[in-house]
Amino acid sequence: MSTGKHGISDKLKGTEKNIWVDFGKLAAECKALNLGQGFPDFMPPQHVLDALVNAAKSDNVTVNQYTRSQGHPRLVKALAKLYSPLIGQTIDPMSQLLVSVGAYGALFCAIQGLVNPGDEVIIIEPFFDCYEPMVRVAGAVPRFIPLRPTKSGKTTSSADWKLDPQELESLFNEKTKLILMNTPNNPLGKVFTKDELELIAGLCIKYDVVCIADEVYEWLVYKANKHIKIASLPGMFERTLTIGSAGKTFNVTGWKLGWTVGPEHLMLGMRTMHQNCNYTCPTILQEAIAASFEVELGRLDSPDSYLHQLPVDLEPKRDRLAQMLQDVGMSPVIPEGGYFMLADISTFDTPTSDEDEPKDFKFVKWMTKEKKLASIPPSAFYSKEHKHMGENFIRVCFIKEDATLQKAEQILKEWKSSLGK
Ligand code: PMP
Ligand code: GLN
Repeated sequence: MSTGKHGISDKLKGTEKNIWVDFGKLAAECKALNLGQGFPDFMPPQHVLDALVNAAKSDNVTVNQYTRSQGHPRLVKALAKLYSPLIGQTIDPMSQLLVSVGAYGALFCAIQGLVNPGDEVIIIEPFFDCYEPMVRVAGAVPRFIPLRPTKSGKTTSSADWKLDPQELESLFNEKTKLILMNTPNNPLGKVFTKDELELIAGLCIKYDVVCIADEVYEWLVYKANKHIKIASLPGMFERTLTIGSAGKTFNVTGWKLGWTVGPEHLMLGMRTMHQNCNYTCPTILQEAIAASFEVELGRLDSPDSYLHQLPVDLEPKRDRLAQMLQDVGMSPVIPEGGYFMLADISTFDTPTSDEDEPKDFKFVKWMTKEKKLASIPPSAFYSKEHKHMGENFIRVCFIKEDATLQKAEQILKEWKSSLGK
């Protein structure tokens, strides 16, 4: 039935499906153990919760009212202090920072604020799934370039997935407005090396392209790897918008606070979008995150630093999950950062299904229903033409209590014995 004037707008057509909505619903309906959508199943740090309680209990009436559109002054000041040394540039809290509704809000406002219909936007695959619809809805043309695995075997590393420099340069032209990159990467866990970042930076400068650096997992980097901000490379600060997230930094994904650091001229478009679609973000949450960063700023070099301790705590969980996936016959790609892992399922048969969809969609649905273990199909992180590159994998999340990982281990052990292994 045609819905005529009452239907979805033309610009949104083709973007109706969403993996988080669909696979979150399936996991809940099947009462499956949820290693799908990325969120911790443990409490955030006590000082972050205390900061929120203190803000709520304080007699400062202003924390309950609207705050400055671009960001609560106390929060942008703390963020400027944190990021200035990391970027190697004195960040002005009032003009070079914007607080948004999660990193989602930052990505949306940045893309809407910068691109014109017909502009080209380069997206590195696999990519966080909202990049493509955001670019298309803005009327721009996405151009995709995959990271390709250069090794195979029982266990490989996200470091083995690489860009082809010639292929990358072939996508740049006079219509290219933006490149969207994500380090540490979701879903792969790749942490881009200095050489890789220099390659991207060199092309951005050569073709006068803006870089959106999604760095929401900036603190989640495992031993022997280092997160480098592309904005800290020569000539890049003035052409980069760097995005972060309180949800990822402090394990409060439900608080939905994100931010962007960048030069004022690049922030103008996103600020304009933000002030007209959200105007401002919840003051009390910004107050609590500001106080939390103030605590962390005072102990950045100490063993008490939550930002540095979290990856230390997560690394054994990563390794435990990798081992149990390997035991059942999957081949994990060990992530250098983030809290997701891809695992190759090519040795498993494709479950039968009436749906015309990639193998990983069928496999994840089957596993959620039959094994009561939920994950995410990685082909959702690829363009239509490259979906085959993701469909032999599943994505699993390991920011979970040991008891949850224990339950996953039990499921996988039973699965393994049912296979006669
Ligand atoms: N970028 C990446 C790479 C992500 O994984 C996520 C997931 N939360 C986001 C952006 C969005 O972050 P937020 O929850 O702060 O909106
Ligand atoms: N970033 C998280 C993930 O990749 C959450 C996704 C979401 O909130 N839509 O699982």
